[in-house]
Amino acid sequence: MHMVMFGPPGVGKGTQGKRLASELGVIHAATGDMLRAAVGSGSELGKEVRECIEAGQLVPDEVVDGLIEERIGREDAEQGFLLDGFPRNVAQAKALDEILARRGGVGLDSVIFMQAEDAKLVERLSGRLLCRACGFGFHRHYSPPRDEGRCDRCGGELYQRGDDYENVIVSRLEVYRKQTEPLRTYYADHPGFREIDGGGGIDEVYQNLQKAVLN
Ligand code: AMP
Repeated sequence: MHMVMFGPPGVGKGTQGKRLASELGVIHAATGDMLRAAVGSGSELGKEVRECIEAGQLVPDEVVDGLIEERIGREDAEQGFLLDGFPRNVAQAKALDEILARRGGVGLDSVIFMQAEDAKLVERLSGRLLCRACGFGFHRHYSPPRDEGRCDRCGGELYQRGDDYENVIVSRLEVYRKQTEPLRTYYADHPGFREIDGGGGIDEVYQNLQKAVLN
């Protein structure tokens, strides 16, 4: 299975994508996670990437195109892949088509577009807390940790992502409207294109996603 998921920040691509990739036995490749790892490494590239992320802007296409080409060329991607957060604009979608053509014409089986109302996205993102040690996610109101500031799973410290502050969320949503939403038109005629309502609870959204991908 070769699939991509796109939609606004906070719609649940990461939560749902990880679960689905694991069920399908394919790798989950999220450009946001890869870019945060680059920032964490403290490299020159990481510094440039950090500025883009903290401003809520997209990182240059050539950086993410390269990351994705390298990732899906690895052995563990031979069973398939689920790309989360890539492509994020039409230029990246075209680059992905070229990457797949170079890999012998593997096509996309499934293209999932998730959506939800802005108010819901802002509410989800602004309450999101992540564990520094294991990456597990909580939400201040929907799924609060037992001990404030500590991860239930590993006891690690919880933090709020620098781009989950409300002023940055507004920029991310603007960037999404201008640059990512046009992918709907780009993929509209793709036979595997499906729209999913990402506004419900985690299990409800997952069931809709399963139906869209597996039927
Ligand atoms: P995410 O974790 O998907 O919300 O991504 C966090 C941030 O990483 C985004 O706001 C962008 O700054 C950057 N980013 C993630 N994926 C891409 C991409 N495909 N193209 C450009 N920038 C990206």
